[in-house]
Amino acid sequence: MIVMKFGGTSVESAEAIERVATIVSSRLKHAPIVVVSAMAKVTDQLIAMGNLAAKGQCDESLELFRSLRKRHFDTAEFLLGAKRSATLAPRLQAFLSELESFLRGLAAVRELTPRGSDYLLSFGELLSSLIVADAFMVRGLHAAWVDSRECLVTDSRHTHALPQMDQTRERSKKKIPPLIKKKRIPVMGGFIAATADGVPTTLGRGGSDYSAAIIGAALDADRIEIWTDVEGMMTTDPRLCPEAKTIKRISFNEAAELAYFGAKVLHPATLLPAIHKNIPVYVLNSRNLKSTGTEITAQAPPSRDIFRAITAKMGISIVNVVASRGVMVHGFLRSVFEAMDRHSTSVDIVAISEVSLSFTMETKRLPKALLTELEQIADVACEDRQAIICLVGEDIHGKPGIAASVFNTIAEAGVNIRMISQGASEINISFVVQESDVPKAVRHLHAHFFPRKPASTVATKKNGTGSRGRANGAARVTSKLQAATTSATTNENVELRASRP
Ligand code: ASP
Ligand code: MG
Repeated sequence: MIVMKFGGTSVESAEAIERVATIVSSRLKHAPIVVVSAMAKVTDQLIAMGNLAAKGQCDESLELFRSLRKRHFDTAEFLLGAKRSATLAPRLQAFLSELESFLRGLAAVRELTPRGSDYLLSFGELLSSLIVADAFMVRGLHAAWVDSRECLVTDSRHTHALPQMDQTRERSKKKIPPLIKKKRIPVMGGFIAATADGVPTTLGRGGSDYSAAIIGAALDADRIEIWTDVEGMMTTDPRLCPEAKTIKRISFNEAAELAYFGAKVLHPATLLPAIHKNIPVYVLNSRNLKSTGTEITAQAPPSRDIFRAITAKMGISIVNVVASRGVMVHGFLRSVFEAMDRHSTSVDIVAISEVSLSFTMETKRLPKALLTELEQIADVACEDRQAIICLVGEDIHGKPGIAASVFNTIAEAGVNIRMISQGASEINISFVVQESDVPKAVRHLHAHFFPRKPASTVATKKNGTGSRGRANGAARVTSKLQAATTSATTNENVELRASRP
């Protein structure tokens, strides 16, 4: 049994849904369960409709509603033909009528609560999954629409609910395997779920990947395929460096590190339910049926390249905090960290000495009030338009000379390094450069560490660190769990922009 998840752009139009049907046909012998997102942009439109209605702008809201309705009916008709779409129409219409009444109600009470918002957003995935299921049927695929709200059970943290795995397993097992036994293809909406007593919830924006991982874990799937519109995860951003190539295999920890240091295809924290059960996750391109994409697993075998990827995170500020004369050196760091804590700041890279501390943060997240407070105890200087370049790879662990070759390469590119960090976990080397130096630096690094034909000196020998034991790997994954989950949930609108080739 496998889970195949198709994101918004993979179901954005009739043509895209046809491609999905073709991809699913190629996997029939693996007993696929299909999870789909709302059609591209639909979730954003539902939010816009809700906000308009809640402001009392009912007409404007309903105008958006009508264009959404038209898009779904047009897509259905194109895919199914007039006759078959007439049989689907009442089911689509039932959801659409519910949505319309909700918007009218919202305009009357003028309040959109998190609970209401989950109900509102659920229509995107409900509609898309209904259409996809029928499109499969017309193409000879024996689909069965499944209401995700009857399988995925969550707590009641509306807008970012957390799965209750035991109940989810129980309910999913009752619904899904019997369909598979009858050779049907379950088709369900991602992102949406319900509390144990049936109140609709959502798993957070971009949550369809999470749904796929939850269902895969609940049913012990053999693999999970995340079909998107890019060629898997890339060795670097192809807009910065056209030589970027697809990463074949990557460990969960490495993928999490990459996501943290730059926008990526998906948020790895959402894959944890699968990773914990050692179910491999593949990121594949729905526009390229031959795509082999990227495999994400708890541990990845050592590769020929030293690093898995290079990322660049732009829009960074460096803040230098130097203890003012007369301030007791003892207690200085504590005061700085306490101030950071009061302003809920989470920093990227920190360099510390007895009387000074430098840290980096995304400029747009840097609280001005923190700077004002630090100025009471220190001289504070802030520099914008910096970037963090980060090289990630578990294989660097315990190997001498790697940092030297990174910095030599940067020196050859004529780029000045402002700050450096390598944690004891030795999974990444990161450093700060000026934003304008990023393309040059990344291209040089990529040419050096991902040569077209890897030189034999770059080849990774299997050594003690290369073949890590399972138990060790599992512990690392667990420790990453907290960090990754926190960043996924505190950062409510986790940006899932992909690097487009
Ligand atoms: N439709 C939801 C969103 O746009 C969930 C998803 O696409 O994964 O956030
Ligand atoms: Mg999406």
